[in-house]
Amino acid sequence: MPNKHLGQNFLSDPSILAKIISSAELSSEDTVVEIGPGPGRMTRMLAERVTRLIAIELDHDLYQKLAGDFIAYRNVEIVHGDVLHYPFEALDVFKVVANIPYYITTPIIFRLLDAKQNLKSMTLTIQKEVAQRIVAAPGSKDYGVLSISTQYHTESELKFIIPKEVFRPMPKVDSAVVHMIIRNKPPVYVRDEKLLFSIIRTAFSQRRKTLSNSLKPFGQDIKSVLTAAGIDPQRRPETLSVEEFALLANLLTNK
Ligand code: SAM
Repeated sequence: MPNKHLGQNFLSDPSILAKIISSAELSSEDTVVEIGPGPGRMTRMLAERVTRLIAIELDHDLYQKLAGDFIAYRNVEIVHGDVLHYPFEALDVFKVVANIPYYITTPIIFRLLDAKQNLKSMTLTIQKEVAQRIVAAPGSKDYGVLSISTQYHTESELKFIIPKEVFRPMPKVDSAVVHMIIRNKPPVYVRDEKLLFSIIRTAFSQRRKTLSNSLKPFGQDIKSVLTAAGIDPQRRPETLSVEEFALLANLLTNK
């Protein structure tokens, strides 16, 4: 009986699983981490493709079943535990391919971005709405902290939509596969990344306010700093590109 609280919506159509794996652009030398292998259908297909596969499953019953099913696979390691506590930093170069549990989609993405040192790419099946936020451009209603964070650290592409009807049990929403390649260096020069993301989070926490209002915590003269960056202080955060946020952060660094 699938556990709703663990986001268990399983995918068994082999052609869709093959399409996900092909989106990941794997090579036979790759080490892959699969988050939430569930019954292990994609796990088996991945195991045939790569040098090393680490599959992390929280559900104890599924873990035990997987551990038995994959006992003969020398390249597969089934890990029992919470992906959010997995020590990704200890791995050599790796890729992630996963149909992730949706109740922790953004924590998983931020955790992986945090551990991006040796991460090459993530190919994730997630809610369609979240995928649209990841690839959203400035000016769109979907554009926000998630779009900017993922686009700053990765080159992201929405590969294809998976209708909810093909999952068992059927979730409430459609899904999408996003392929995110970790950038070697950010797309813009930033002197203080922490400050950049603090500005972005503050601006979007009051999305409807103008920047001159929402960014007051960064100085009473924020209006003139915005003007100096060539940004109209009356603009709202969703209209700013990553480059404009970076310019602003650089002007505010060591001010
Ligand atoms: N990969 C399988 C598939 O495509 O059919 C299952 C995907 S299902 C959407 C998500 C899986 O993640 C479930 O097997 C669930 O038990 C597991 N899971 C949930 N929370 C987890 C966590 N914190 N860490 C690791 N696995 C988790």
